[in-house]
Amino acid sequence: MNNPTKTQYPTFVTRGSTGHFIDGGWQEAVAGRRMDTRNPSTGGILTTLARGDAADVDRAVLSARRAFDGPWSRFTPHERQALLHKVHDFIDQNYDELALLESLDMGVPLSRAQGFKQNILKCILFFASQTMNCAGQTIPNSLGGKYTTLTLKAPVGVVGGIIPWNGPLISQWWVLGAALATGCTVVMKPAEDASLTVLRTAEFLCEAGLPEGVVNVVTGLGTEAGAALAAHPDVDRIAFTGSTDTGREIIRASATNIKRLQLELGGKSPDIVFADADLDRAVPGAAMGVFSNSGQVCFAGTRLFVERTIQHEFVERMVDFGRSLKVGDPLDPNTDLGPLISQKQMERVLDYVSVGDDEGADLVLGGNRMTGDVANGYFVEPTIFNNVSNTMTIAREEIFGPVISIIPFDTAGEALALANDTVYGLGGAVWTRDISTMNTMMHGIKAGTVWVNCYGLIDPSVGFGGYKQSGYGWKGGPQHVDAFLYQKSICINSD
Ligand code: ADP
Repeated sequence: MNNPTKTQYPTFVTRGSTGHFIDGGWQEAVAGRRMDTRNPSTGGILTTLARGDAADVDRAVLSARRAFDGPWSRFTPHERQALLHKVHDFIDQNYDELALLESLDMGVPLSRAQGFKQNILKCILFFASQTMNCAGQTIPNSLGGKYTTLTLKAPVGVVGGIIPWNGPLISQWWVLGAALATGCTVVMKPAEDASLTVLRTAEFLCEAGLPEGVVNVVTGLGTEAGAALAAHPDVDRIAFTGSTDTGREIIRASATNIKRLQLELGGKSPDIVFADADLDRAVPGAAMGVFSNSGQVCFAGTRLFVERTIQHEFVERMVDFGRSLKVGDPLDPNTDLGPLISQKQMERVLDYVSVGDDEGADLVLGGNRMTGDVANGYFVEPTIFNNVSNTMTIAREEIFGPVISIIPFDTAGEALALANDTVYGLGGAVWTRDISTMNTMMHGIKAGTVWVNCYGLIDPSVGFGGYKQSGYGWKGGPQHVDAFLYQKSICINSD
C-alpha cells in the first residue's frame, strides 16, 4: 500500500465513532459518554470512542464469564489450536487494514506497522503450538503403592488485558494468544490514545470463528475503565503493560480478590559500547535501539555508555546517523520516525530536554518540536545528549521519547556498576568483539534481557521479563502460557 489518502482510510474510522466490543457486538457506554481519539501526526480528531466506566466493565466481565463457563469451556486443545490457525490465516489476509489503523491511531510509520505482520503471525503460531502444553504430570510419590498422584491444569478464568498505547497491535497478542491457547476469556482495556487496532482485532476474531464473549473490549480512561477492570471481583488475572506508577495502582487494585498479575513496567535500559565494537553495526544499532517508534518503547536503550577512548568518533557518527533519519508523515513510505502519541507526551519529552540542558548535559542533536509541514503533529526531533552523568534526571527517569543520553566510561567494571545503578531492569545490551567482556556483561547486567551485538529483538518462544521495578511475570515461552493456568494436584486411593 503506497501513501494512502483519506478516501482510502478504513470505514472503521471514517464512520466517525465506535463503541465497546462486548459479547460479539458493538455497544454504547452505559452512561452514554464518548471521547475523541486523535491522529498524532496532524493533531486532528480521527474518530470517537465509547468512554467506559465500571458499569461497562461489569457488562464485559459478565460476557467473558458466560463464555468461559459456556461453549468455550468445551473446546478441546485441538479445537483451540485449529481456531488459532484460522485466526492466523484471517489476520494474514486482513492485515493491511490493521497496519493502516495502527499508523493513523498512534503515528507509527506505516512501513514499520506493515513490518510487524510477521512478528504477529509468528506469535499466533507460537501460542497455537502451546494448546497441547496445557498438561499436568503423573508424579511418583512417597505415600505408598495404593496411591496415584498427578497434577491437572485448568484455565484461570477471565483475564483483564490492560494494553499500552506504544504498540497495541502487537502488544495485545501476548494476552490474546495465551488466553486463547489455554481456554481463558478476555476483557481488554486498550489505552485511551490508541484503541483502534484492539477493537478491530476483537471484531476480526469473531469473524474468524471465535465464540461471542471470549474476547471483549472496553474503551475508556485508565482511571475509570482501567481501574474498574483491575479491581473487578470476577476478573481472575490481569496482564498489564505500562508505567511503573500505574503498575503500583494495579497491584493495589488487584488485592480485592488476590488476582494473578503479570506486569511489564518501565525501563531505563543500559546499552554499553566498548572500544573494540564494530561501530558500523553499533552506531545504527544503538541509535535505533532508542529512536525506533520515536523512543516509545519500554526497553529502549536510553542510557548509552560509551568507552571514553572512542567517545568523540562515536558521538560524531551517532549525530550523523540521527540527522539522516527522515521524521514526518507516517503514511509516507520513506519515513523513518513518526510523531509522539499525544500533545501531553510531546510536552513531557520537551520538558525532559530542558531539564537535561539545565543539569549541564551537552545537547548535540535535536531537542525541539518540529515545525513546517508537520507543525500541527506531535513531532520531536531525534535528540542526543553527550557527557551525561548517570545521576542526572534524564539518565534516571523514563522519558519515552527520541532522546539518547551518552555517558562515557573508562573500565568494564565502571560500565557495569553504572548500568546496574537504576531502579529498572527490563533490558540491556553490549557491543564488543571480546568474548570475555561479553561474558562479564551478559552475566552482570541485572535485566530480563541482554542483547549482544544487536538490540531489541524479541522472540515469542523465548520471551522476556523484568528485574526490579520493571515488573514481573515472563512474557513468551511456555512459562507465559503456564501462568494462564491453575495447577491442581490429585491423589487417588485405589484400595
Ligand atoms: P502512560 O503513563 O505512559 O500513559 P499508563 O501506564 O498510564 O501509561 O497506561 C498504560 C495503560 O494503563 C493504559 O491502557 C491506561 O489507560 C491504563 N491505566 C492508566 N491508569 C490506570 C489505572 N489506575 N488502573 C488501571 N489501568 C490504568
